[in-house]
Amino acid sequence: MRVYKIAILPGDGIGPEVTREAVNVLQVLSEIDSTFQYEATEFNWNSEFYLKHGRMMPEDGLDMLMDFDAILFGAIGDHRVPDPVTIWELILPIRKNFKQYVNFRPIKLLKGLESPLKQNDPIDFVIIRENSEGEYTNSGGTMFHAEAREMAVQNTVMTRQGVTQISEFAYQYAREHGLTKVTNATKSNAVIHAMTFWDRIVEEVADKNTDIKYEKYYIDALSAYFVQRPESFEVVLASNLFGDILSDLGSAIVGGLGIAPSGNINPSGEFPSMFEAVHGSAPDIAGKGIANPMAQIWSAALMLEHLGRKDLHDAVLAAIEEVLEEKKVLTPDIGGTASTKEVGKAIARKLRK
Ligand code: ATP
Ligand code: MG
Repeated sequence: MRVYKIAILPGDGIGPEVTREAVNVLQVLSEIDSTFQYEATEFNWNSEFYLKHGRMMPEDGLDMLMDFDAILFGAIGDHRVPDPVTIWELILPIRKNFKQYVNFRPIKLLKGLESPLKQNDPIDFVIIRENSEGEYTNSGGTMFHAEAREMAVQNTVMTRQGVTQISEFAYQYAREHGLTKVTNATKSNAVIHAMTFWDRIVEEVADKNTDIKYEKYYIDALSAYFVQRPESFEVVLASNLFGDILSDLGSAIVGGLGIAPSGNINPSGEFPSMFEAVHGSAPDIAGKGIANPMAQIWSAALMLEHLGRKDLHDAVLAAIEEVLEEKKVLTPDIGGTASTKEVGKAIARKLRK
Protein backbone atom coordinates (compact mmCIF):
# COMPACT_ATOMS: atom_id res chain seq x y z
CA MET A 1 0.00 0.00 0.00
CA ARG A 2 1.15 3.51 -0.76
CA VAL A 3 2.20 5.58 2.22
CA TYR A 4 1.96 9.26 1.30
CA LYS A 5 4.93 11.32 2.36
CA ILE A 6 3.72 14.74 3.46
CA ALA A 7 6.01 17.64 4.33
CA ILE A 8 4.54 19.95 6.94
CA LEU A 9 5.73 23.57 7.10
CA PRO A 10 3.71 25.01 10.00
CA GLY A 11 4.96 28.59 9.50
CA ASP A 12 4.37 31.58 11.77
CA GLY A 13 1.61 33.05 13.90
CA ILE A 14 -1.62 31.11 13.56
CA GLY A 15 0.03 28.88 10.92
CA PRO A 16 1.12 26.20 13.43
CA GLU A 17 -2.20 26.47 15.32
CA VAL A 18 -4.36 25.69 12.29
CA THR A 19 -1.89 23.27 10.70
CA ARG A 20 -1.94 21.14 13.86
CA GLU A 21 -5.70 20.66 13.41
CA ALA A 22 -5.27 19.82 9.71
CA VAL A 23 -2.66 17.17 10.52
CA ASN A 24 -4.96 15.80 13.18
CA VAL A 25 -7.64 15.34 10.52
CA LEU A 26 -5.15 13.35 8.42
CA GLN A 27 -4.44 11.24 11.48
CA VAL A 28 -8.14 10.56 12.04
CA LEU A 29 -8.56 9.61 8.38
CA SER A 30 -5.70 7.12 8.61
CA GLU A 31 -7.35 5.58 11.68
CA ILE A 32 -10.78 5.17 10.14
CA ASP A 33 -9.63 4.18 6.66
CA SER A 34 -6.83 1.63 6.52
CA THR A 35 -6.32 2.31 2.80
CA PHE A 36 -5.04 5.79 3.63
CA GLN A 37 -1.65 5.92 5.28
CA TYR A 38 0.71 8.84 5.48
CA GLU A 39 3.98 9.86 7.02
CA ALA A 40 4.33 13.50 8.06
CA THR A 41 7.67 15.26 8.43
CA GLU A 42 7.79 18.70 9.95
CA PHE A 43 10.13 21.49 8.82
CA ASN A 44 10.24 24.59 10.96
CA TRP A 45 11.30 26.97 8.20
CA ASN A 46 9.67 30.09 9.46
CA SER A 47 10.59 33.56 10.67
CA GLU A 48 12.27 32.17 13.83
CA PHE A 49 14.44 30.06 11.56
CA TYR A 50 15.32 33.17 9.56
CA LEU A 51 16.25 35.18 12.64
CA LYS A 52 18.54 32.37 13.78
CA HIS A 53 20.11 31.38 10.46
CA GLY A 54 19.74 34.44 8.25
CA ARG A 55 17.77 32.49 5.67
CA MET A 56 14.26 31.10 5.33
CA MET A 57 15.32 27.53 4.66
CA PRO A 58 18.54 25.50 4.55
CA GLU A 59 20.63 25.70 1.40
CA ASP A 60 19.46 22.25 0.35
CA GLY A 61 15.88 22.92 1.49
CA LEU A 62 14.33 22.35 -1.92
CA ASP A 63 16.19 19.05 -2.30
CA MET A 64 14.84 17.99 1.07
CA LEU A 65 11.26 18.64 -0.07
CA MET A 66 11.70 17.03 -3.47
CA ASP A 67 10.85 13.47 -2.43
CA PHE A 68 7.59 14.33 -0.72
CA ASP A 69 4.22 13.64 -2.33
CA ALA A 70 2.83 16.98 -1.14
CA ILE A 71 3.50 19.93 1.13
CA LEU A 72 1.10 21.35 3.69
CA PHE A 73 2.09 24.93 4.32
CA GLY A 74 1.14 27.21 7.22
CA ALA A 75 1.14 30.96 6.77
CA ILE A 76 4.41 32.86 6.94
CA GLY A 77 4.73 36.41 8.24
CA ASP A 78 6.36 38.17 11.17
CA HIS A 79 6.93 41.86 11.79
CA ARG A 80 10.64 41.18 12.48
CA VAL A 81 11.20 39.84 8.97
CA PRO A 82 10.50 41.97 5.88
CA ASP A 83 7.65 40.56 3.76
CA PRO A 84 9.74 40.31 0.57
CA VAL A 85 12.16 37.98 2.37
CA THR A 86 9.48 35.44 3.31
CA ILE A 87 7.99 35.61 -0.15
CA TRP A 88 11.15 35.62 -2.28
CA GLU A 89 13.17 33.20 -0.16
CA LEU A 90 10.60 30.60 0.72
CA ILE A 91 7.26 30.70 -1.03
CA LEU A 92 8.39 31.70 -4.52
CA PRO A 93 11.36 29.29 -4.72
CA ILE A 94 9.04 26.42 -3.80
CA ARG A 95 6.39 27.47 -6.33
CA LYS A 96 8.96 28.08 -9.06
CA ASN A 97 11.26 25.11 -8.61
CA PHE A 98 8.43 22.67 -8.22
CA LYS A 99 6.68 24.13 -11.28
CA GLN A 100 3.51 24.80 -9.33
CA TYR A 101 2.09 26.87 -12.13
CA VAL A 102 -1.52 26.48 -11.04
CA ASN A 103 -2.93 28.39 -8.12
CA PHE A 104 -6.19 26.69 -7.36
CA ARG A 105 -8.93 28.39 -5.32
CA PRO A 106 -12.36 26.90 -4.79
CA ILE A 107 -15.04 29.56 -4.25
CA LYS A 108 -17.81 27.56 -2.70
CA LEU A 109 -20.46 28.71 -0.27
CA LEU A 110 -20.48 25.86 2.23
CA LYS A 111 -23.73 24.70 3.79
CA GLY A 112 -24.35 26.56 7.01
CA LEU A 113 -22.56 29.71 5.91
CA GLU A 114 -24.17 32.88 4.67
CA SER A 115 -22.82 35.00 1.88
CA PRO A 116 -22.62 38.74 2.62
CA LEU A 117 -24.39 39.09 -0.73
CA LYS A 118 -27.59 37.88 0.91
CA GLN A 119 -28.52 35.84 -2.08
CA ASN A 120 -29.69 32.28 -2.02
CA ASP A 121 -28.29 30.75 -5.18
CA PRO A 122 -25.51 28.29 -4.57
CA ILE A 123 -22.05 29.72 -5.20
CA ASP A 124 -19.69 27.01 -6.35
CA PHE A 125 -16.88 27.67 -8.77
CA VAL A 126 -13.10 27.54 -8.94
CA ILE A 127 -10.55 30.15 -9.83
CA ILE A 128 -7.57 28.83 -11.73
CA ARG A 129 -4.85 31.42 -11.48
CA GLU A 130 -1.61 31.40 -13.43
CA ASN A 131 1.02 31.12 -10.73
CA SER A 132 4.43 31.49 -12.34
CA GLU A 133 4.65 34.42 -14.74
CA GLY A 134 2.38 37.20 -16.02
CA GLU A 135 2.31 40.49 -14.16
CA TYR A 136 4.41 39.22 -11.24
CA THR A 137 7.97 39.15 -12.51
CA ASN A 138 11.15 40.92 -11.52
CA SER A 139 11.54 42.26 -15.02
CA GLY A 140 11.67 46.04 -15.06
CA GLY A 141 13.19 48.73 -12.94
CA THR A 142 13.30 52.35 -11.91
CA MET A 143 15.32 54.71 -14.03
CA PHE A 144 16.20 58.28 -14.84
CA HIS A 145 13.97 59.96 -17.39
CA ALA A 146 14.97 63.24 -19.01
CA GLU A 147 11.54 64.89 -18.92
CA ALA A 148 9.68 63.08 -16.18
CA ARG A 149 12.88 62.86 -14.08
CA GLU A 150 12.23 59.37 -12.79
CA MET A 151 10.20 56.47 -14.02
CA ALA A 152 9.40 52.84 -13.26
CA VAL A 153 8.77 50.06 -15.75
CA GLN A 154 7.20 46.78 -14.74
CA ASN A 155 7.08 44.15 -17.43
CA THR A 156 4.42 41.51 -17.80
CA VAL A 157 5.73 38.23 -19.14
CA MET A 158 3.34 35.91 -20.91
CA THR A 159 4.85 32.89 -22.62
CA ARG A 160 3.17 30.55 -25.06
CA GLN A 161 4.09 27.62 -22.86
CA GLY A 162 2.88 29.32 -19.68
CA VAL A 163 -0.50 30.43 -21.00
CA THR A 164 -1.07 27.15 -22.83
CA GLN A 165 -0.43 24.97 -19.81
CA ILE A 166 -2.67 26.95 -17.46
CA SER A 167 -5.46 27.02 -20.07
CA GLU A 168 -5.15 23.29 -20.65
CA PHE A 169 -5.34 22.70 -16.91
CA ALA A 170 -8.54 24.78 -16.70
CA TYR A 171 -10.21 22.74 -19.46
CA GLN A 172 -8.99 19.45 -18.08
CA TYR A 173 -10.28 20.37 -14.63
CA ALA A 174 -13.65 21.35 -16.10
CA ARG A 175 -13.94 18.07 -17.98
CA GLU A 176 -12.88 15.89 -15.06
CA HIS A 177 -15.40 17.57 -12.78
CA GLY A 178 -18.33 17.54 -15.19
CA LEU A 179 -18.31 21.32 -15.57
CA THR A 180 -19.58 23.02 -18.69
CA LYS A 181 -17.95 26.44 -18.97
CA VAL A 182 -14.62 28.25 -18.70
CA THR A 183 -14.61 32.01 -18.15
CA ASN A 184 -11.53 33.91 -19.24
CA ALA A 185 -10.65 36.97 -17.13
CA THR A 186 -8.90 39.47 -19.36
CA LYS A 187 -8.24 43.11 -20.09
CA SER A 188 -7.19 42.90 -23.70
CA ASN A 189 -9.01 46.13 -24.53
CA ALA A 190 -6.43 48.11 -22.56
CA VAL A 191 -3.40 45.92 -21.92
CA ILE A 192 -2.86 45.54 -25.60
CA HIS A 193 0.29 43.45 -25.82
CA ALA A 194 0.23 41.01 -22.96
CA MET A 195 -3.51 40.45 -22.61
CA THR A 196 -4.27 40.16 -26.32
CA PHE A 197 -1.56 37.50 -26.41
CA TRP A 198 -3.12 35.83 -23.36
CA ASP A 199 -6.53 35.80 -25.08
CA ARG A 200 -5.10 34.42 -28.30
CA ILE A 201 -3.45 31.46 -26.56
CA VAL A 202 -6.42 30.81 -24.25
CA GLU A 203 -8.68 30.78 -27.30
CA GLU A 204 -6.41 28.37 -29.15
CA VAL A 205 -6.92 25.95 -26.26
CA ALA A 206 -10.65 26.75 -26.12
CA ASP A 207 -10.93 25.86 -29.81
CA LYS A 208 -9.59 22.40 -29.03
CA ASN A 209 -12.16 21.91 -26.28
CA THR A 210 -15.39 22.93 -27.92
CA ASP A 211 -17.44 20.53 -25.77
CA ILE A 212 -16.92 23.06 -22.97
CA LYS A 213 -18.33 26.57 -23.36
CA TYR A 214 -15.97 29.51 -23.44
CA GLU A 215 -16.69 33.07 -22.41
CA LYS A 216 -14.50 36.10 -21.91
CA TYR A 217 -15.00 39.13 -19.68
CA TYR A 218 -12.90 42.16 -18.96
CA ILE A 219 -11.68 42.06 -15.42
CA ASP A 220 -13.61 45.19 -14.38
CA ALA A 221 -16.94 43.80 -15.54
CA LEU A 222 -16.12 40.34 -14.20
CA SER A 223 -15.47 41.76 -10.73
CA ALA A 224 -18.96 43.24 -10.77
CA TYR A 225 -20.47 39.94 -11.92
CA PHE A 226 -18.75 38.16 -9.01
CA VAL A 227 -21.00 40.26 -6.80
CA GLN A 228 -24.10 40.39 -9.01
CA ARG A 229 -24.31 36.80 -10.26
CA PRO A 230 -21.60 34.58 -8.73
CA GLU A 231 -23.79 31.53 -9.31
CA SER A 232 -23.17 31.79 -13.05
CA PHE A 233 -19.49 30.78 -12.93
CA GLU A 234 -17.91 27.32 -13.04
CA VAL A 235 -14.23 27.67 -13.90
CA VAL A 236 -12.64 31.12 -13.98
CA LEU A 237 -9.26 31.24 -15.70
CA ALA A 238 -7.09 34.22 -14.79
CA SER A 239 -3.58 35.61 -15.05
CA ASN A 240 -1.40 35.97 -11.97
CA LEU A 241 -2.49 39.50 -10.97
CA PHE A 242 -6.15 39.20 -11.96
CA GLY A 243 -6.38 35.79 -10.29
CA ASP A 244 -4.87 37.18 -7.12
CA ILE A 245 -7.46 39.94 -6.88
CA LEU A 246 -10.41 37.77 -7.92
CA SER A 247 -9.42 35.16 -5.32
CA ASP A 248 -9.75 37.59 -2.44
CA LEU A 249 -13.03 38.90 -3.82
CA GLY A 250 -14.17 35.33 -4.24
CA SER A 251 -13.30 34.32 -0.69
CA ALA A 252 -15.11 37.39 0.63
CA ILE A 253 -18.41 36.40 -0.99
CA VAL A 254 -18.36 32.92 0.54
CA GLY A 255 -17.45 33.46 4.16
CA GLY A 256 -14.04 35.07 4.40
CA LEU A 257 -10.45 34.24 5.16
CA GLY A 258 -11.08 31.78 7.97
CA ILE A 259 -12.56 29.35 5.44
CA ALA A 260 -10.62 29.97 2.20
CA PRO A 261 -8.29 27.17 1.02
CA SER A 262 -5.81 27.02 -1.84
CA GLY A 263 -3.45 24.76 -3.72
CA ASN A 264 -0.27 25.48 -5.64
CA ILE A 265 -0.32 22.63 -8.06
CA ASN A 266 2.23 20.93 -10.28
CA PRO A 267 -0.23 19.06 -12.49
CA SER A 268 2.27 16.57 -13.92
CA GLY A 269 3.06 15.24 -10.46
CA GLU A 270 6.75 15.45 -11.27
CA PHE A 271 7.21 17.68 -8.21
CA PRO A 272 5.27 18.03 -4.97
CA SER A 273 2.32 20.40 -4.90
CA MET A 274 1.72 22.70 -1.95
CA PHE A 275 -1.51 23.39 -0.13
CA GLU A 276 -2.15 26.34 2.16
CA ALA A 277 -4.91 28.42 3.65
CA VAL A 278 -5.32 31.74 1.87
CA HIS A 279 -5.00 33.73 5.10
CA GLY A 280 -1.73 35.02 6.51
CA SER A 281 -0.15 34.54 9.92
CA ALA A 282 -2.75 36.86 11.50
CA PRO A 283 -0.49 38.31 14.23
CA ASP A 284 -3.48 40.06 15.81
CA ILE A 285 -4.97 36.75 16.95
CA ALA A 286 -1.88 34.51 17.05
CA GLY A 287 -1.41 32.69 20.34
CA LYS A 288 -5.00 33.24 21.41
CA GLY A 289 -6.19 29.88 20.16
CA ILE A 290 -9.15 31.34 18.28
CA ALA A 291 -8.04 31.07 14.65
CA ASN A 292 -10.46 29.25 12.41
CA PRO A 293 -8.77 26.00 11.31
CA MET A 294 -11.31 25.30 8.54
CA ALA A 295 -9.29 26.98 5.78
CA GLN A 296 -6.26 24.85 6.55
CA ILE A 297 -8.30 21.66 7.01
CA TRP A 298 -10.01 22.28 3.65
CA SER A 299 -6.55 22.90 2.13
CA ALA A 300 -5.48 19.50 3.46
CA ALA A 301 -8.60 18.07 1.81
CA LEU A 302 -7.56 19.61 -1.52
CA MET A 303 -4.21 17.92 -1.00
CA LEU A 304 -5.97 14.59 -0.55
CA GLU A 305 -7.90 15.12 -3.78
CA HIS A 306 -4.66 15.97 -5.58
CA LEU A 307 -3.16 12.73 -4.25
CA GLY A 308 -6.01 10.81 -5.83
CA ARG A 309 -8.29 10.54 -2.81
CA LYS A 310 -11.31 12.60 -3.85
CA ASP A 311 -13.37 10.37 -1.55
CA LEU A 312 -11.42 11.61 1.48
CA HIS A 313 -11.63 15.21 0.25
CA ASP A 314 -15.40 14.89 0.05
CA ALA A 315 -15.60 13.31 3.50
CA VAL A 316 -13.59 16.14 5.08
CA LEU A 317 -15.66 18.80 3.35
CA ALA A 318 -18.88 17.11 4.45
CA ALA A 319 -17.59 17.04 8.06
CA ILE A 320 -16.75 20.78 7.90
CA GLU A 321 -20.23 21.49 6.51
CA GLU A 322 -21.92 19.49 9.27
CA VAL A 323 -20.08 21.51 11.91
CA LEU A 324 -21.02 24.74 10.13
CA GLU A 325 -24.65 23.76 9.82
CA GLU A 326 -24.96 22.86 13.50
CA LYS A 327 -23.58 26.32 14.36
CA LYS A 328 -22.53 25.04 17.80
CA VAL A 329 -18.75 24.88 17.53
CA LEU A 330 -17.55 27.88 15.52
CA THR A 331 -14.64 30.29 15.95
CA PRO A 332 -15.31 34.01 16.51
CA ASP A 333 -14.59 35.05 12.89
CA ILE A 334 -17.78 33.28 11.82
CA GLY A 335 -19.85 34.21 14.80
CA GLY A 336 -18.99 31.58 17.42
CA THR A 337 -17.04 31.41 20.66
CA ALA A 338 -15.17 28.12 20.20
CA SER A 339 -11.41 27.66 20.07
CA THR A 340 -9.27 26.41 17.20
CA LYS A 341 -8.87 23.07 18.99
CA GLU A 342 -12.59 22.66 19.66
CA VAL A 343 -13.43 23.22 16.01
CA GLY A 344 -10.71 20.78 14.95
CA LYS A 345 -12.11 18.20 17.38
CA ALA A 346 -15.68 18.75 16.20
CA ILE A 347 -14.65 18.08 12.61
CA ALA A 348 -12.70 14.98 13.67
CA ARG A 349 -15.76 13.73 15.57
CA LYS A 350 -17.94 14.07 12.46
CA LEU A 351 -15.38 12.09 10.46
CA ARG A 352 -15.32 9.28 12.98
CA LYS A 353 -19.03 8.67 12.95
P1 ATP B 1 0.19 38.34 7.03
O1 ATP B 1 1.13 39.48 7.04
O2 ATP B 1 0.87 37.05 7.48
O3 ATP B 1 -0.56 38.17 5.74
P2 ATP B 1 -2.03 39.75 8.03
O4 ATP B 1 -1.88 40.72 9.14
O5 ATP B 1 -2.20 40.23 6.64
O6 ATP B 1 -0.88 38.65 8.12
P3 ATP B 1 -4.11 37.91 7.60
O7 ATP B 1 -3.79 36.57 8.10
O8 ATP B 1 -3.98 38.14 6.15
O9 ATP B 1 -3.27 38.90 8.44
O10 ATP B 1 -5.52 38.24 8.16
C1 ATP B 1 -6.25 39.44 7.99
C2 ATP B 1 -7.35 39.48 9.06
O11 ATP B 1 -8.16 38.30 9.01
C3 ATP B 1 -6.78 39.55 10.48
O12 ATP B 1 -7.55 40.42 11.26
C4 ATP B 1 -6.91 38.14 10.97
O13 ATP B 1 -7.07 38.06 12.35
C5 ATP B 1 -8.12 37.58 10.24
N1 ATP B 1 -7.92 36.14 10.00
C6 ATP B 1 -7.08 35.60 9.10
N2 ATP B 1 -7.11 34.26 9.14
C7 ATP B 1 -7.98 33.92 10.10
C8 ATP B 1 -8.44 32.68 10.63
N3 ATP B 1 -8.01 31.50 10.17
N4 ATP B 1 -9.34 32.71 11.63
C9 ATP B 1 -9.80 33.89 12.09
N5 ATP B 1 -9.43 35.08 11.63
C10 ATP B 1 -8.52 35.12 10.65
MG1 MG C 1 -2.24 39.22 4.73
